[in-house]
Amino acid sequence: MKSKIWLSPPHMGGSEEIFVKEAFESNWIAPAGANISGFERDLESFLGQDCLVSCLSSGTAAIHLALIQLGVKENDEVLCQSFTFVGSVNPIIYVGATPVFIDSELETWNMSPDFLEKAILDRISKGKKPKAIILVHLYGMPAKMDDILRIARQYGIPVIEDAAEALGSQYKGQKCGTFGDFSVLSFNGNKIITTSGGGAIVSKTMEEKEKAIFYATQAKGNEEHYEHSEVGFNYRMSNVCAGIGRGQMKVIKERVAQRQSNHSFYHDLFEKNPEISLFKAPSKVFSSNYWLSCILIGEKVHFNKNDIINHFDKNNIESRSLWKPMHLQPVFKTFPFYGAAVSDDLFKRGVCLPSGSNMTIVERDEISRVLTEFISMYS
Ligand SMILES: *Cc1c(COP(=O)(O)O)cnc(C)c1O
Repeated sequence: MKSKIWLSPPHMGGSEEIFVKEAFESNWIAPAGANISGFERDLESFLGQDCLVSCLSSGTAAIHLALIQLGVKENDEVLCQSFTFVGSVNPIIYVGATPVFIDSELETWNMSPDFLEKAILDRISKGKKPKAIILVHLYGMPAKMDDILRIARQYGIPVIEDAAEALGSQYKGQKCGTFGDFSVLSFNGNKIITTSGGGAIVSKTMEEKEKAIFYATQAKGNEEHYEHSEVGFNYRMSNVCAGIGRGQMKVIKERVAQRQSNHSFYHDLFEKNPEISLFKAPSKVFSSNYWLSCILIGEKVHFNKNDIINHFDKNNIESRSLWKPMHLQPVFKTFPFYGAAVSDDLFKRGVCLPSGSNMTIVERDEISRVLTEFISMYS
């Protein structure tokens, strides 16, 4: 049997084991050591903009610490893009705050600046100014940063930029992960680069970086003994995982180019097909890493997303629905939502296609064959 074509599998570069071996040889098998500071330096020079990076155990942990550093507390409100992965939202609940969900716009599928401003004005009129905005560059596509940052500044609300899916993407030539008051990266197994599991918080000052590490290491004071005057977390990245990250940083440019090349492959495949449209950047201002290539099925066709997903599955190819919006999730449905049915509709009609940076020509040919077969079944 042919081996399975996965949606977004890990892709090692070759030098990861050298750094992991160093961790073993020096016996730094701990959430401290040279790989952590090395990986942080690599990320800082990749991102530019004088950003400072603190490596953590996950992207979700990074969002949690960003909320804490912004002073978000019980009964505060946090504006959050609804069309995202649940890791963007759960930390709002961890700090006891209330998520207020914002719908997407159709060009980037990310936070709609119009609905954002409506939500801010309405929350203020109800007597509650939101404490933070969590925006996402979903599937690697940069959000409309100029509009969102203008609104955020106008009302004086800090921005947490969830760039978990957008390492290597750029907006107007500036890297995603450098726009927020705090930004968040993820190195989970399915992301652009992986440390098997991990994340990072990106900040602007040394004081913020040190504070992030302080909270991530149980908020221990500077005394010789263990002195604690605040509640902390065990969120630091392990030195073994950071070794994998250092190896991955050697190939990050290739990894981004490989994902973008997958997108060009799909572009050619769907170009002549009016029933299915490939999601692409609305203009040159938005440079996506195309972490996942996504399609939307036309409204008047004889098949739906499940037909495609099932047909792929029968052929041992993994594909998946787009993220189900958070305002439609049973656990979050009682929270406020500002929008129309933009992300609802994307969820109804959208599918993510295999997008691994290690996709081979043979795998592309197989995907092409299976899709052509599918379309001929329904036409
Ligand atoms: C993966 C992801 C996260 C969370 O990252 P983890 O490292 O898995 O905790 C957050 N937001 C988005 C949009 C993601 O895709």
